Amino acid sequence: MAKGLPKRSEDFSGWYNELVGMADLAENSGVRGCMVIKPYGFAIWEKMQDQLDRMFKETGHQNAYFPLFVPKSLFEAEEKNAEGFAKECAVVTHYRLKTDPEDASKLIVDPNAKLEEELIVRPTSEAIIWNTYKGWIQSYRDLPILINQWANVVRWEMRTRLFLRTAEFLWQEGHTAHATKQEALDETAQMLDVYAAFAENFMAMPVVKGYKTENERFAGADDTYCIEALMQDGKALQAGTSHFLGQNFAKAFDVKFADKDGKQDYVWATSWGVSTRLMGALIMSHSDDYGLVLPPKLAPIQVAIVPIYKGEDQLAQVSEVANEIKDALIAKGLSVKYDDDDKRKPGWKFAEYEVKGVPVRIAIGARDLENGTVEVARRDTMSKETMPREEVVDHVAGLMDEIQCSLLVRNQQFVKENTHEVETWEEFVDVIENKGGFVSAHWDGTGETEQQIKEATKATIRCIPFDAQEVEGKCIFTGNPSKRKVLFAKAY
Ligand code: AMP
Repeated sequence: MAKGLPKRSEDFSGWYNELVGMADLAENSGVRGCMVIKPYGFAIWEKMQDQLDRMFKETGHQNAYFPLFVPKSLFEAEEKNAEGFAKECAVVTHYRLKTDPEDASKLIVDPNAKLEEELIVRPTSEAIIWNTYKGWIQSYRDLPILINQWANVVRWEMRTRLFLRTAEFLWQEGHTAHATKQEALDETAQMLDVYAAFAENFMAMPVVKGYKTENERFAGADDTYCIEALMQDGKALQAGTSHFLGQNFAKAFDVKFADKDGKQDYVWATSWGVSTRLMGALIMSHSDDYGLVLPPKLAPIQVAIVPIYKGEDQLAQVSEVANEIKDALIAKGLSVKYDDDDKRKPGWKFAEYEVKGVPVRIAIGARDLENGTVEVARRDTMSKETMPREEVVDHVAGLMDEIQCSLLVRNQQFVKENTHEVETWEEFVDVIENKGGFVSAHWDGTGETEQQIKEATKATIRCIPFDAQEVEGKCIFTGNPSKRKVLFAKAY
């Protein structure tokens, strides 16, 4: 166990908070609810960004940038969206400070510098973007518009946790405009697939794809699709959302286009986003009581090489071999760090790379030089083996795929074992309270029942899975007829 890190089985939440700090990912800041993302944490986020950005571009999207502020009158235009986010908005009312006449060491808001119209710090950018699209769209020739923005947003969350729920967070938001309803629906589905593929292939995190219920839908959307993941403590996490916005924003901002026959219609819209919450998902999916475990595809350092030596001569000898291995691994496309920092002992370095989740560590000592061997340690299984020096490069390169794959398989197994089918209310309560995980159960389709189940158990409907089969049944709570089972869980 890593020193100072609580055990997951005893205090999962304490373990998470402590680990985020120990692995140098992020810390709380002087601003309530806002975090500082530290270089190592940001390097992982950049890896996520690189992949997602590539996938967005491969599906025809381009990046652009829109303002941080939304004038209140624009924000209000789409009523449901405005109402949904109203309680979490940070609002700018003034544009200047001045010296306090009663205390020259202090600054106060200058009452003469009140803005004519208040500005909302964007909690999401549909309003400012659709106000812009109005000027870009006249005819079907201007469609589709396929734009993504990498940005920060602010939602004044009351209970915050590093990465999972912060008042300011980093994300990407896609905003697309289409001539037909079907095209917008296809786009909504396509981007959810992109998110699911990213989660599985890069984060090694299996997800369930599905529809949100009306209660959980994005404010202003006609439909919200989501990917839901299961964390090691049996709680679910919404990992990404893709919204079919219908013509709601086009109507609010009067965005019409002329079709081929010159007929005017409102434009169809989608939006989709994933945030720095994915960092929390990554941490809680794989890590253990020794620290972070990172899938190789998202690890800033994939291989750390640590020399074990006495004196400069030995270090020089070890370094020659280490650098050779390092160069050969880099030539195979791996990111490698040779840590010959003389200020730290090997034991300290081992612990450091363990806590930071570096997938593979190679140690080379004086005895290895004599024997022509090296020691290779795998972070995911904590196993070690000594092997001939000539084999290490191919072996370690192969380990990258093996670790990536085994993390996914391990998590798929976990989700399978922690997805429970229940038929009665008693079973439902028992599983939610004592086992956790996803619970698949019949629900009568009403918001009231959903709300009552939430009040009674804290479990929410995570999604109506896309692959849920039509089977007649009875709602676990009301006994009313139900056509399919939905997925419940306690969630972050
Ligand atoms: P939404 O616009 O509400 O659909 O959210 C888009 C994405 O941002 C989803 O994947 C959410 O999980 C994530 N998200 C929402 N609120 C927060 C928050 N306070 N901190 C971090 N991520 C968030």
